Amino acid sequence: MSFANLGLSDPIFRAVKEKGYSTPSPIQAEAIPAVLSGRDLLAAAQTGTGKTAGFTLPMLEILNRAPAAKARQARALVLTPTRELAAQVADSVSAYGKYLALRSAVVFGGVKINPQIATLKQGVDILVATPGRLLDLHQQGAVAFDQLEMLVLDEADRMLDMGFIHDIRKILKLLPAKRQNLLFSATFSNDIRALAKSVVTDALEVSV
Ligand code: AMP
Repeated sequence: MSFANLGLSDPIFRAVKEKGYSTPSPIQAEAIPAVLSGRDLLAAAQTGTGKTAGFTLPMLEILNRAPAAKARQARALVLTPTRELAAQVADSVSAYGKYLALRSAVVFGGVKINPQIATLKQGVDILVATPGRLLDLHQQGAVAFDQLEMLVLDEADRMLDMGFIHDIRKILKLLPAKRQNLLFSATFSNDIRALAKSVVTDALEVSV
């Protein structure tokens, strides 16, 4: 298996090569074709498995294939439990998307909200967020989800451990029903299974 036959277009392939990756990790080899085909995904994967590229690469590919609407509202949303993970995911989105014209932004709590509102006003294709701040921004009218095509829940088990279930459920209610869903979790407890049931449909299950 090589990145060359995973169906990624040239600007993304080039960015991957520049990162120095030679072969896709197991999660990437399974997730990338599945996500590109439009399927929902339920993945058991720890940090260090390459899961971030596993969802970021096909996300960039899908968004890059279809042009953004004029309003430039978020088309992909990645929810993470912590600001550190949000920042890391946003860095990956920037690195793998460096040759694309897609815009991304990262928002999390613990810092001033006004600069984030200003950034979102400029339009964004990919939004990486922690749940609480995302809800605050939505309440202030700074973010709309009408154009949302893809949702990623990253480290879903940690989000539940940190008590974000209510925020996540509130966010789910705000999203268009028709969307692609990817859920990543290190473990698959009953709580995660219950959450997955209300998030993904006919998902491909991957465990690495
Ligand atoms: P993650 O599990 O997404 O946190 O990624 C763990 C680390 O593996 C990150 O530093 C990535 O840059 C790196 N990585 C991701 N995919 C590959 C790959 N196919 N080959 C080598 N390193 C990779």
